[in-house]
Amino acid sequence: MEKENKQFQRALDYRYSAERICACCKKQLFGRIDKRYCDYTCKNQFHSVMRAYRREVNKEVNASLDRNYQVMMEVMGPEEKGVFNRTELQRKGFDFSSCTSYKRNAFGIMNYVYNYYWFARTNNKIELRLDPKAQPLPEMVLRRWMADLRARGII
Ligand SMILES: [Zn+2]
Repeated sequence: MEKENKQFQRALDYRYSAERICACCKKQLFGRIDKRYCDYTCKNQFHSVMRAYRREVNKEVNASLDRNYQVMMEVMGPEEKGVFNRTELQRKGFDFSSCTSYKRNAFGIMNYVYNYYWFARTNNKIELRLDPKAQPLPEMVLRRWMADLRARGII
């Protein structure tokens, strides 16, 4: 909160400062009071830097969520639910602190990773489920899973 206020104050100071400079190249600005860049080149440059910054900030979290999703798909295959050992999932790189959202119900907290969710049945038993509202998986994924199951003699 303190930090946010400081940032907000800095923005206000900048907004009303006598020295009006371009947010990108720092050259003095003339004209409209709400002008923030000298021209479209500086505006585009500014947004390009912001995009790169957001990408950098998102990268680590996205990689962790994607890894979790990969692990869930791998262990679940075509099943809509299953129970797995916490340690087994961790060994595959599952990070229990990364999720996209969570809901609380009678069984406890449902931790969503996109359209899969997991909850702890016991300390070491984790139940994974596919959200019933999930959109159907691409057909090629189903074909690949079926081939895997056939190869393992399960079907
Ligand atoms: Zn500029």
